[in-house]
Amino acid sequence: MVILGAGPAGLVLGNLLLRAGIDCALLERSGRASVENRARAGFLAANTVRILARNGLDDGLRRNGQEHRVCEFRTDDGRFRLDYGRLGTGEPHTVYPQHELVTDLLARFLDAGGRIRFDTEAIAVSDADGPTPSVTVRESDGRPGRWRARYVAACDGRHGAGRRSVPPGAVRHYRRDHGVSWLGLLAEAPPSLDAVGYALHPRGYAGHMARSAGITRYYLQCARGTRADAWSDDRVWDELDLRMRAAQYGTLSRGRFAQRAVVDLGSDVLEPLRHGALFLVGDAAALISPSAAKGANLAVLEAEILARALTAALHGGDPAPLDAYSDRCLAHIWRAQEFSHWMIRLLHETPDPEGPSPFQERLRRSRIGALRDSPAQQDWFAENYVGV
Ligand code: FAD
Repeated sequence: MVILGAGPAGLVLGNLLLRAGIDCALLERSGRASVENRARAGFLAANTVRILARNGLDDGLRRNGQEHRVCEFRTDDGRFRLDYGRLGTGEPHTVYPQHELVTDLLARFLDAGGRIRFDTEAIAVSDADGPTPSVTVRESDGRPGRWRARYVAACDGRHGAGRRSVPPGAVRHYRRDHGVSWLGLLAEAPPSLDAVGYALHPRGYAGHMARSAGITRYYLQCARGTRADAWSDDRVWDELDLRMRAAQYGTLSRGRFAQRAVVDLGSDVLEPLRHGALFLVGDAAALISPSAAKGANLAVLEAEILARALTAALHGGDPAPLDAYSDRCLAHIWRAQEFSHWMIRLLHETPDPEGPSPFQERLRRSRIGALRDSPAQQDWFAENYVGV
């Protein structure tokens, strides 16, 4: 078994296969330090925590993860809080930075005797629908190489070799550009509120998400085409203050921005998630906009579903779970896509082909009002917000 990519999907899959006694090798394009320092997600769903716990992969997050259960919306009409950990299914998030989870999973994989090749880039998966699938690679010394495998799991993200290797006629590609961009910021500053903050402002959305005692993620909606370094740190903080209404609700703790990146909000899904011996997992299967923090959670869920299916096929001779892999995962993926699309329409005035739309804006205010006032709507929100 060859696994492409050492992100959350590839490392959960690798660990689960090792535990089941299935031989696998992981090929990762980047070096170890880069894999362990790539700051991205942070909010883990309760189901993700359960998956990691039942497979003995939760040491770090049990020690250092922080329970999180409240979000706060700030609008021109005032602010309100939802204790989503008590609504819906009554489950909180666990805040644990993705790069720390990846570091834990990697250490566990290596301790268990797992084989990983860093600085090894997969170029293409060949003959996935034939008897001898293989992966061509550029080895760490730059020379070409080839790995043969009975199965290949593409956990190598949206721009990886896995996706590219599925012939166009064998897959349907659904995609959507939401027409909205965010400046994603990682601030060396403590969280400024004890909740996820969603600020809806005439100048655009701003978001606040705790990561650790000294690190906070912020998002600032920006015009399409904005460069990540276009604004000085002071200008970014002033804009965050304005949109988060700091003068009214409390100042933001400032610090240096350790990371800035512009994210154009887009989503896509490939169907099916299998082509012969090649399986697509995590971001390689579907990209979910970060508006609802689902991507890493889906990656872990899909990795567990695939690990179980491979174990049934290789140890029990039962191919049925592998045949069902794509449909099972797609049901979760489309549910998450629907909710993150709903969040996008809640948080932004999304571009209307006919120009600025007061009608759309009224709909958005009504949507926010329903969330503030309707217990049934709040339960629905909480269930979808923490669930995968
Ligand atoms: P990745 O983490 O992208 O890992 C893929 C790996 O494959 C990488 O290590 C890469 O180097 C390697 N690779 C790529 N190409 C090749 C190749 N050709 N050969 C070999 N290796 C290759 N999700 C949440 O659930 N909660 C959040 O709060 C959240 N916040 C986010 C914030 C931001 C700013 C962003 C950008 C994303 C966020 N996400 C969040 C999404 C989440 O980070 C991703 O969905 C998650 O990383 C997907 O995991 P993965 O293992 O599928 O892919």
